[in-house]
Order: sequence, then structure tokens, then C-alpha cells
Amino acid sequence: MENLYSPCELNALLKRHGIAPLKSLGQNFLIDQNIVEKIALAAVEPGGNILEIGPGPGALTLQLAKRAGKVVAIEIDRGMLGVLQEVMAGNNRVEVIHADFLKVDLQEIASAYFEGKPFCVAGNLPYYITAKCILKVLESSAGIQRFTAMVQQEVADRLTASPGDKNYGALTASVAYYGATDVLFPVGRRCFMPTPDVDSAIVQFMPSPCLNVGRTAYAKTVRGLFAMRRKTLSNNLKASFGIKAHQAEEIFIKAGVDATRRAETLCPEEFARLATAIFPVEAETNEKKK
Ligand code: SAM
Repeated sequence: MENLYSPCELNALLKRHGIAPLKSLGQNFLIDQNIVEKIALAAVEPGGNILEIGPGPGALTLQLAKRAGKVVAIEIDRGMLGVLQEVMAGNNRVEVIHADFLKVDLQEIASAYFEGKPFCVAGNLPYYITAKCILKVLESSAGIQRFTAMVQQEVADRLTASPGDKNYGALTASVAYYGATDVLFPVGRRCFMPTPDVDSAIVQFMPSPCLNVGRTAYAKTVRGLFAMRRKTLSNNLKASFGIKAHQAEEIFIKAGVDATRRAETLCPEEFARLATAIFPVEAETNEKKK
């Protein structure tokens, strides 16, 4: 079999299966063995269960399978299935599912493949759905222990920005609900084939919600208050939730937040206090998400 870390051989393998990297599916394949090994090491404990988003030709999948007890890999590209079948031949720790990751039910995956036990998630994420993949994993109630993801450097900067930074936005505040995001190491653009225009980084999430407020109320509050980034909290609150001026005033007093500030200056605890004041009933519950 071809060496997946050699651009020439990887291209030859794809060609033999009648395919080439698809820009529309964010296909930039990892060709640096050292990086792939580092990701696998960080992504899962020996013998653990792991779900991979977008295995592509399978370089990371193979490394994960050396370490994990079971790897379930979800790939949307039908053309890639023949490649994966060949690369994973005889490897009974790997199961490939042909599906759109954004449409799968993670609780069903957990019970069908991992006996309902907790599992980790990893992926060199397709850049066009990075934020959606991150939120889907973090919001899931399927028992995800750890999420290790390759993202573009600009997304890593957004995920780890502090209130008041230019990179701090709705994604930062939404993800902060689930705890801190760690940047593990940078990954240069030359580690991929084809070479993308930007560098990347490996980030890791250990989902453990720590704010004392329901997830849906928190998420709605962040979205609503960031709707018009340049406007004050007061304007966003009234426009996003159809709240009258006198009610808005009460909400800000209750939450102890100055109504003339902008969302980009609020820390997660302040969003949580506002969520409790805006949605007192929903703020107390956390309904299940698949
Ligand atoms: N894991 C491989 C690697 O690191 O070399 C490939 C990573 S490539 C950046 C992203 C992969 O995700 C591609 O194989 C692409 O076809 C797949 N993909 C794109 N959108 C997807 C989706 N919605 N669901 C599942 N896989 C998807």
C-alpha cells in the first residue's frame, strides 16, 4: 500500500480510486507523521473509544487505531470509502460510517458502537463547518470526554480570546460555557496536501459545563446579544428578544451588568447572569441534546 505521508504516493492512491482532493469538502490531508502521532497521543487514552470526524484517506485513523480500543470514523465523501476500505483492510478496531457528521445522532452512535460508554472525539475538521462541528460536539449529551480538533489558527485565536480582544465573539462566549479551550500545538500549512493558505493549530476541549445556568438559555443570550456587534447590549436585547425598554432596564439591574456595554466585553459569568434574568424558567433546565 502507498505511504500516506508521501504527497506523491497519496496522490497516486487517490488517483487509483478515481478521486482527487475536493476543496468543497475541505480536503487538506495531513502528510506529517510526527504531527499525526502527536494528535493521536493527545486524543485518546490507550484502549479508549474514539469517534473521528472526516477520516479522509485515513492517516490519523490508523494512528488512532494503534492506541484506541475502537475507532468509529464518519466520512461524507462517498469517493473516499474505497480508499478507506483499502487502507483499513484487516484492521478490526476501525468502523467507517458514510454520513454527514452534522446529521448523525451522537447518542445513537454511542449506543450502537461504544455500548453507551463515554468516548472521545477527534478530527482534522473540514474548515467550512468548523464552528458547527465544535458546537455539535460540545452541546451533545452523549458522554463525550475529550475533543481534540485541528482548526485554522484564526479559529484557535477566536476560541481562546479574552473579553475585549478583537477575536472575542459569539463562538468564544458560546464555547466558554463548556469550560476552557486549550491550544496544544501549532501545525504549519506545509503539513497538509494540498497546502492550504493558512496555518492551523490543535485545540482541545474537556467538556465540563461550569456555569450555573441552562445551556439553551445561555446560547440564546449569547446569540441575541452579539446579533449587532457594534450596538450596545441594551439595543441588542430589545431587538433580539422583542423586550420593552422598562423590562430591559430591570434585566440589566437584576444581572448587575451595565446596559451601555457591548457583548464583546462580557465574560461568560455575565452572559450567564443575563441569561438567568432574560429566561428565568429555561435558565434552570438543561434539556438533552443528541
Ligand atoms: N482526517 C484526514 C486527514 O487529517 O488527513 C482528512 C481531514 S480533511 C481536513 C476533512 C475531511 O472531512 C475530509 O475527508 C472530508 O471529506 C470530510 N468531511 C467534510 N465534510 C464532512 C461532513 N459534513 N461529515 C463528515 N465528513 C466530512
